[in-house]
Amino acid sequence: TSITNHMPTAELQKLDAAHHMHPFSTNTEIAEKGARVITKAKGVFLTDSEGVEILDAMAGLWCVNIGYGREELAEVAARQMRELPFYNTFFQTSHVPAIALAAKLAELAPGDLNHVFFGSGGSDANDTNLRMVRAYWAMKGQPDRNIVIARKNGYHGSSMGSGSLGGMSAIHSQGGLPIPDIHHINQPHWYAEGGDMSPEDFGLARAQELEAEILKHGEHRVAAFIGEPIQGAGGVIIPPETYWPEIQRICDKYGILLIADEVICGFGRTGNWFGSQTLDIRPDIMTVAKGLSSGYQPIGASIVSDKIASVVDNNEFNHGYTYSGHPVAAAVALENLRILEEENILGHVRETAAPYLAEKWQALTDHPLVGEARICGMMGSIALTPHKETRAKFAADEGTVGLICRTRCFANGLVMRHVGDRMIISPPLVISNGEIDTLITRARLSLDEAL
Ligand code: PLP
Repeated sequence: TSITNHMPTAELQKLDAAHHMHPFSTNTEIAEKGARVITKAKGVFLTDSEGVEILDAMAGLWCVNIGYGREELAEVAARQMRELPFYNTFFQTSHVPAIALAAKLAELAPGDLNHVFFGSGGSDANDTNLRMVRAYWAMKGQPDRNIVIARKNGYHGSSMGSGSLGGMSAIHSQGGLPIPDIHHINQPHWYAEGGDMSPEDFGLARAQELEAEILKHGEHRVAAFIGEPIQGAGGVIIPPETYWPEIQRICDKYGILLIADEVICGFGRTGNWFGSQTLDIRPDIMTVAKGLSSGYQPIGASIVSDKIASVVDNNEFNHGYTYSGHPVAAAVALENLRILEEENILGHVRETAAPYLAEKWQALTDHPLVGEARICGMMGSIALTPHKETRAKFAADEGTVGLICRTRCFANGLVMRHVGDRMIISPPLVISNGEIDTLITRARLSLDEAL
């Protein structure tokens, strides 16, 4: 029998449990409960195999920026598959989708970020970055300059390289990560770690840990610093305003390359094309993926400065992926960028969706469980706490409050994720004010049920 959307849910779940290993999951738990099988989606709504609609306030995994069901992308993919489904960009060949997308990204990216190295997603793009910054310094005659400084609770992917750049202990504890010469400083998470300091002083102190770390290893050992403009998977942690200017100052002072991981923040999420523009960061490399194609095709890239490319391009950089610059993925990404631009979706975010969402989101602080509500553009988080004044955490045996809240959301037709006791959202950028009302109503109901 063929396996289709029309199969009874229980049978699909049984097959899923028997054969499908889910990422970042305890698969026996999924087998016990049965995965919720998603069959289709339109706009900001998913539909499951029982026909139930769910508002997707995570845009898939922070990626479906233009919303689901855009026919133009399907048409472009089909056309490109008929014309040229695959050709590589190794060995002195190129093709129009890769050329056009690289040129478009160079146009959109700030400063002199004019050179694009393609891959299939965020993890492999960060692996590219890690190898490229080390290759860059080696090509400049400084092979010992190979240390990369990153942050605890940062997320840059789950491959050996990108998982090492990330600072997630759950990832480091499996498979021998981090690999050598990657070091992590503390994150600028004022709510959880700021104690009695003001957010401004705390932001400055956390940024200055970078300088201390550079001096600890010796400034001529440090190749680069990497960070997400706003930490996403770590819990949507919007840093104090003092943080990034100080990081930038320190990178400039020691000539250390700055990599901004824009995999979530890129393509309108914070109201500008890139989070670096919103947070006033001047990166040497940006990592992009996710919103680059709105998730319709797997594609990622490193967008690299003239300074780096002028060195790396003069030598053979022994790196690349079969699907670097995949023509179908590149054509779909280009069409996605056209839609973002021609429909002025960034304008919709700035003028309509983000201000409205911010007002409704921040009003959640009147709920007894909510200690803070923060938002930047279309990415937001709330902290759940048993005690608003002290910003206390729930005791370990109550540490499932976030999970309970997420589960209630899912039952109430809303995808909202939890990271410990933080609830996070990152809805499609095209969300309407009416849909934001639905999001907030379902979130409130779920918070009430978690009390
Ligand atoms: N970098 C950041 C900031 C991310 O949020 C993610 C994924 O969530 C990645 C990198 C990894 O991207 P991918 O899952 O496409 O490999």
